[in-house]
Amino acid sequence: DAPISTNFIQQAINADNESGRFDRRVHTRFPPEPNGYLHIGHAKSICLNFGLAREFDGLCNLRFDDTNPTKESVEYVDSQKEDVRWLGFNWHDRELYASDYFGELYEFAKQLVLEDKAYVDSLSQDEIRQYRGTLTQPGRESPYRNRSVEENIDLLERMKAGKFPNGAHVLRAKIDMASPNLNMRDPVMYRILNTEHHRTGDEWCIYPMYDFAHGQSDSIEGITHSICTMEYEDHRPLYDWFLRELGMYQPQQLEFARLNLSHTVLSKRRLLRLVEGGYVNGWDDPRMPTIAGFRRRGYTPEAIRDFCDRIGVAKNAAIIDIALLEHSLRDHLNKTAPRAMAVLRPLKVVITNYPEDETDWLDAVNNPEDESAGTRKVPFSREIYIERDDFMEDPPRRFYRLAPGREVRLRYGYFITCQEVVKDESGEVVELRCTYDPETRGGSAPDGRRVRATLHWVSAAHAIEADVRLYDHLFTQWNPDEDDEDGADWLSFLNPESLVTVTDAKLEPSLADAVPGTRYQFERQGYFCVDTRDSTPERIVFNRTTTLRDTWAR
Ligand code: ATP
Ligand code: MG
Ligand code: MG
Repeated sequence: DAPISTNFIQQAINADNESGRFDRRVHTRFPPEPNGYLHIGHAKSICLNFGLAREFDGLCNLRFDDTNPTKESVEYVDSQKEDVRWLGFNWHDRELYASDYFGELYEFAKQLVLEDKAYVDSLSQDEIRQYRGTLTQPGRESPYRNRSVEENIDLLERMKAGKFPNGAHVLRAKIDMASPNLNMRDPVMYRILNTEHHRTGDEWCIYPMYDFAHGQSDSIEGITHSICTMEYEDHRPLYDWFLRELGMYQPQQLEFARLNLSHTVLSKRRLLRLVEGGYVNGWDDPRMPTIAGFRRRGYTPEAIRDFCDRIGVAKNAAIIDIALLEHSLRDHLNKTAPRAMAVLRPLKVVITNYPEDETDWLDAVNNPEDESAGTRKVPFSREIYIERDDFMEDPPRRFYRLAPGREVRLRYGYFITCQEVVKDESGEVVELRCTYDPETRGGSAPDGRRVRATLHWVSAAHAIEADVRLYDHLFTQWNPDEDDEDGADWLSFLNPESLVTVTDAKLEPSLADAVPGTRYQFERQGYFCVDTRDSTPERIVFNRTTTLRDTWAR
């Protein structure tokens, strides 16, 4: 293998290994909050964390960061596990939950109160925000900051015992209200939430904040490198402060730039809005940038992993063109997807010199990129369908496909020549009458004459009808997160043509038993897969995974 350059995280790990900083193997974690389905940004973090563990012969935990019961659920936990597994990673028995540490975290909090490093504050949320100050203005100390240790312990215990309504008090770290880092201005450690938790039930009515839970969870699990996105860079001093004050083992937090993808949004909050607002059909709608959406669309885990490899890891944020993801996808599907013929917008062609009741079973190659995929038989008969777009009555220059008087090749079949165009009263072309040359079976003429186009087709008598869903980008805007000059917001950039359903597609009969989830290349059309939700043996539903080429005009 050619030597590949290492990213800054690999370099940091190498340096720590050389200095012997950690007395243990590399140990990372992927820490999703179960408040939604995982998206392609999470896939980057999954590939990074599990990938590092693999590369350095270490371990990676799957840890649910379940500290906010108002937004979390078992459905989300289950979907997140399924998605990590589908991407090809395994956490073995290291499935962990921040909620497993609620008891310990509470003891840590008490320890800080006893050392006068934390206090119960009774300001409202708004007041706390006002007192915190801004980047240019120091914060002010809360009037409750100097409560005695006894009073704080008593209040904290009563908070835990459920004696107060939501918002009555919070527990705050006593650090420095004049710190230039806002995160260090007495951050909130616990808030009261009289809400059931999907794992701990009604055992708790105070819940730790991310900043108080995350570092200690990392420490308890013996994580060496705690990798997160750049927004947490300013939280690192706090991460380190808690662990130092608690005298705990200290992992290294490292930050990288989150993935942003063009023509979509990647925040669980916004994705939830799309689901709840009915703008899409659920979290696994094939247009969603969720892992479940990509899976249902027909993406492969290999393609997503390849994409994550290619974009690499850096500290500066950029928007990655979704075309790059599609490139990885086409690369993989080109090698692996069997070919088939499907006509999406059918136009009937009658081969007038072909016998009425005859069928000719032609040999078709399943995958020119993979000889082991073999061949299959495709039926040819007197009536076939071709693609409406492959015929023009009055063709412009450079249109080489079928036209009156013109000869073209049928894929795996014969040359045909258009002799007559049949129209309905409105003038629409409803049928073509063609002749075929029996000498051209298999695709070439013994006299060496050439044709300039090869069309896909399906025998009418043998065709299977199917619904085919043609998907396009969910948003028309390159960066829907950014309002345009007129201040239009992200929802107004939804692409009204992100889903077009074709209901009279004609498929070759070998697709009759296509199993949900199976991927194909429909020749000259793109990659398609059988929908796992809506497809039935009576009515097959195909999703277009992607076109053969990038056709998106920017
Ligand atoms: P979101 O707002 O999309 O829910 P989040 O960071 O709140 O993102 P978490 O469930 O907390 O979501 O994320 C789990 C892990 O995945 C974190 O380590 C987080 O940094 C990482 N992650 C989330 N979004 C991205 C992204 N777009 N690119 C890379 N990593 C991400
Ligand atoms: Mg988070
Ligand atoms: Mg979030």
